[in-house]
Parts: sequence; C-alpha cells; structure tokens
Amino acid sequence: MITYKSAEEIELIRESSLLVGKALAEVAKIIRPGITPLELDRRAEEFIRDSNAIPAFKGYGDFPNTLCISLNDVVVHGIPSSKALIDGDIVSVDCGVLKNGYYGDSAYTFEIGEVPAAIKQLLMVTKESLYKGIEKAIEGMRIGDVGFAVQEHAEKFGYGVVREMVGHGIGKNLHEKPEVPNYGKRGAGIKLIEGLVIAIEPMINLGKAPIFQDNDGWTIRTKDGKVSAHFEHTVAVKKGKADILSSFEFVEEVLNKK
Ligand code: MG
Ligand code: MG
Repeated sequence: MITYKSAEEIELIRESSLLVGKALAEVAKIIRPGITPLELDRRAEEFIRDSNAIPAFKGYGDFPNTLCISLNDVVVHGIPSSKALIDGDIVSVDCGVLKNGYYGDSAYTFEIGEVPAAIKQLLMVTKESLYKGIEKAIEGMRIGDVGFAVQEHAEKFGYGVVREMVGHGIGKNLHEKPEVPNYGKRGAGIKLIEGLVIAIEPMINLGKAPIFQDNDGWTIRTKDGKVSAHFEHTVAVKKGKADILSSFEFVEEVLNKK
C-alpha cells in the first residue's frame, strides 16, 4: 500500500531529511586520508543523538552502525570498518534518521584526496542522474519516467546502472512502497501524485551493472570489481516541480572550504 503524506507530514520528513544533510556535513568536516569509517560513524551517531533523533540504520535488520559506508567497488550497505581511508578512495556515505516519528534518508559519495579524472566524472554523472530523476518526480509523471531519466543519463557515459537495488517510498517507515528503480520505461509504472514522498538513489557503476553480496549479508559489490557511486535525496512529489526535502548544501559548503 502506498501512503500519501499531508503537508504537515512532509514538513516533518523535511526536518528529518535536513538533519541527515547536516550529519553528512559532520562527516564531510573530518573525512580525509587516514581516518577510519568507524570514526565517521561515531561522529554521525553522536551528532544525530545530540539533535534528539535516532539513527535509522542502526539495528535495522541486524545492521550494526549509523552509517552505511561503501568504499570503491562497494555499491551500498558497507559496514563501517577500522581500516583507514586512503588517497584515491571514493566513499559513499548513506545516512538515515528518525525524528518526530518520520524518517529522512540521503547519501553522498566523497572523494578522498586525489581521485582520477575518470572516477570524478562518474561521481559527477551519478549526481546529475539523481537530479534528472528528481526533475520527473512531479504529479502526472510515472515511476518509470524517473527511472528512465536516471538510466538514460548514466548510460550515455557507458556506465552500468544497478538493477537489484532501488529507491523507495519513505515516511513513518524507512522503506515504503513504491520501489523506485534507477531504470525504467517512460510512461510505465504507478502514477506520481502530490503527497508521495520517495527516496531516489542512483547506484551507478564505472563498469558493468552486475553486483553480488558479501558473506556478511550486507555489503553489495560490483561483480567486475570496478568502482561504484551513490547519491540519494528524499523528495516530495509536487505539481510542476519536485520538492527536495534533503540537501547537499551543508556537505558542499564544508567541501568547498577544504
Ligand atoms: Mg539511504
Ligand atoms: Mg534509501
């Protein structure tokens, strides 16, 4: 069942989603070669709890941490480790919070030190593909229009679009209906109606699309071992223009000063 949110509920989801953006900015402040994913995780958890919210991922299923931290060939759902980041890594940091009964969800992929130009381009195009999808998150479009827009942009560059992992509805639950694939057909799937709130989250591979799961039951990797990027926003469907409830502004303000 799909639940449509009232204007009041959307404001609560915005509050949670902006808090995620600020938690990602806390990560941005300290992320660098030599720091460990577990240190980033602790910083985010502290920040979220100090903001009277609850980390959404910790204890979701048996996920042990506040952040999913996915390095290089890890697509998503990486468990934060004590192994230091090194120059040239790319690191997807995915964060969710629960506040006032509503969830927010957002992810950003960071460059560690100097990253090769081909990988910088992957990050840029993945972020662009997210915004291409968001442009379609307006009343009257269909879920397939969102996926088509993401896929079309990413494939223009020869990248692999992950099929098995998808975006989702969000609200009183972290994952709600509908599924929001990063691929699709124009005009296919459910109709988008004002009040629908979805997390759009392209996972785009430098190489081919296939993935596999590690024995830890969480970590998703590319089959060909090439790197993967991931950006996510929580978005409310509106008439005329989507309302992006999360924000990369806090993160990018920090990164631009570095
Ligand atoms: Mg997420
Ligand atoms: Mg999500």
